Amino acid sequence: MERVTCDVLVIGGGGAALRAAIEAARHDLSVVIVSKGPLGRSGCTVMAEGGYNAVLRTESPDDSFELHFRDTVEGGSYLNDQRLVEILVREAPDRLLDLENYGAVFTRNEDGTLAQRPFGGQSRPRTCYAGDRTGHEIAMALLDEVRRLDRVRTLENVMAYRLIKDDDGRIAGALCLDLEREDTLVVLAHATILATGGAGQIYPVTTNPAYKTGDGYVMALKAGCPLIDMEMVQFHPTGMVYPESARGILVTEAVRGEGGRLYNAEGERFMKRYDPDRMELATRDVVARAIYREIKEGRGTEHGGVYLDLTHLPDEVIETKLETTLRQFLRYGIDIREEPMEVAPTAHHFMGGVPINERAETPLPRLFACGEVTGGVHGANRLGGNALADTQVFGCRAGLYAAKLARRLRARGERPRVSRLRLLDLESKLWERLGEEDPLEVRRELRKTMWDHVGLERSERGLKKAIKRLEELKRRVEERGVDDGPGLRLALETVNMIEVGLAVARSALFRRESRGAHYRTDYPERDDENWLKHTVYRPDGSLGTKPVDVSRIDPRSQD
Ligand SMILES: Cc1cc2nc3c(=O)[nH]c(=O)nc-3n(C[C@H](O)[C@H](O)[C@H](O)COP(=O)(O)OP(=O)(O)OC[C@H]3O[C@@H](n4cnc5c(N)ncnc54)[C@H](O)[C@@H]3O)c2cc1C
Repeated sequence: MERVTCDVLVIGGGGAALRAAIEAARHDLSVVIVSKGPLGRSGCTVMAEGGYNAVLRTESPDDSFELHFRDTVEGGSYLNDQRLVEILVREAPDRLLDLENYGAVFTRNEDGTLAQRPFGGQSRPRTCYAGDRTGHEIAMALLDEVRRLDRVRTLENVMAYRLIKDDDGRIAGALCLDLEREDTLVVLAHATILATGGAGQIYPVTTNPAYKTGDGYVMALKAGCPLIDMEMVQFHPTGMVYPESARGILVTEAVRGEGGRLYNAEGERFMKRYDPDRMELATRDVVARAIYREIKEGRGTEHGGVYLDLTHLPDEVIETKLETTLRQFLRYGIDIREEPMEVAPTAHHFMGGVPINERAETPLPRLFACGEVTGGVHGANRLGGNALADTQVFGCRAGLYAAKLARRLRARGERPRVSRLRLLDLESKLWERLGEEDPLEVRRELRKTMWDHVGLERSERGLKKAIKRLEELKRRVEERGVDDGPGLRLALETVNMIEVGLAVARSALFRRESRGAHYRTDYPERDDENWLKHTVYRPDGSLGTKPVDVSRIDPRSQD
């Protein structure tokens, strides 16, 4: 088994991982980044279009940290960890400037200030952007900066599979799989940072790329770390519905930010019935559910969506500010300057995940986490533009505190050490996963179950049915193994995806109320008396709760 030793191991290749690696390397430490796909290009970060939230006051001089904080916590239905939100809003502007220093070019106003657009659920326009390819601009700048740092070693097409513990039970790196050589690789480190993003791929209709299969959640669970709020899966209101091959692809919120209007098949601007004040710029949970209802109640379009219309805007606005969206539809022969788009909700973002504190530490010693794999920052519903800020703010913090730990351990002369026996045991368990089940068929069954019963609307009956099916799938896969014929990565991801599906479904059954993205038809109201708390999904599949930090805003003491 090949072994690599370093000070800081970063698992993931998206915005959070790259930012963490940059920060750790700044402390003169050896850093290894392990990424399942091409660095900077395999996660959601590079696909992000709409923007990055930061209080800069260029468009709105009366914007403030307080307003950004309130928008985020109210948008998250008060399930956010308020200490983390405070950090997010205060540090987002500086991390944006870091990105500019790495070479990112954001759209500017004529007077040279950074342009900011309105986004859903935000009381002021504070979303900075680079046209509608913000994530690409950010990812490439981060990648350039990483390449400039000679203490960072990058291992692409390497999938982390299990976290490794030392003899005292502290995380000491990861067992990985080199996907090209189809061989195992051990990376040992003083400090390990998990930045593998979410798991949109457990749904059949999603904005997420193929790499987003929730491996990080499973690595954390298997190492003994609980996950919080796994039921909180955001469905973006506007994914493409037509043609079929494009189903689920994101239609950025910037379209509504720039003035896009939603109509049902009867020509009614239906948001006035759901949120007359904020209309199309209500929070995502509200808009997604409104669209879902319109379609379900028979007011949907021919292809099962609603219309999103920009034709009232000058062509120039569409061509300059929504250029990617224009091209995205032109590819299919639809000119959005002249006809409306058809859109429907699509699985987009995981608000739950690995719990972290202000230092991005997880409950497991020597393990840090940042980005979408973590839970707590966004509560029950994430505001558009807050995820990119999250990757940079907490990526930076994870890199910093992991570096501090690694330096302390190095100063004490410690070396990350793991017994050979433990490694061999982990490795043999990996190969035991392989067998006969067709991973594509297993995925199909899993995704259908998740869409039918653990989607936008949930109920006790449906969730119980889903859990039963997922448990059957898990049993089948455990007994017969998964065929690696279509690819080793595909096989191992499939096993992980079932675990993530179970975590989401069991947590959704446990939370008997509706809050943010989690809507229960049998408990349609938010219940602050009993459920203003995090769900905690434990490694053995059982559930508990944990108090929410409401130190600054407590909805129970408001009028
Ligand atoms: C289409 C789209 C548009 C979006 N637009 C916006 C927007 O405008 N504004 C906003 O704020 N947010 C937006 N988001 C959300 C935001 O992009 C993500 O939440 C955020 O970028 C996640 O960053 P991350 O670094 O945590 O994960 P990602 O960027 O998803 O990166 C995850 C990385 O982990 C790697 N990985 C996964 N598993 C393993 C493993 N087992 N071993 C090794 N590596 C692994 C992957 O290869 C990938 O490189 C958008 C999301 C999508 C999908």
